[in-house]
Amino acid sequence: MALSEEILKELKEKLIIEKERLKKELRKIAQPVDDDEYKTIYEDIGEEKDENATEVQMYANRLAVKEDLERQLKDVENALKKIEEHKYGICEKCGKEIEIERLKAYPAAKTCIRCARENQGE
Ligand SMILES: [Zn+2]
Repeated sequence: MALSEEILKELKEKLIIEKERLKKELRKIAQPVDDDEYKTIYEDIGEEKDENATEVQMYANRLAVKEDLERQLKDVENALKKIEEHKYGICEKCGKEIEIERLKAYPAAKTCIRCARENQGE
């Protein structure tokens, strides 16, 4: 592996911080069901028709945010697992090493810059 112990340690710390941040964000809008499952909170603000409409809208917004946070959390946990398994920093698509600059900017990256660009075009 091209990544030095030092960089790996730095990235791992970043990932752990990011994991805690994502969990904190999730807990604002959702309740933990178990370790990595969250249930979006449905806030009851009133019984009037427009209040109910607001509740549904709020819930829909939270659900979208929650799904996005969960996806990010999964990527972070996945990256941490790969560090443990010494598979970190390898592109999931082409199997090549992910650029260090990319990992520094986004430690949970699953693919190299080239594959990420190709993915966007799909
Ligand atoms: Zn790649």
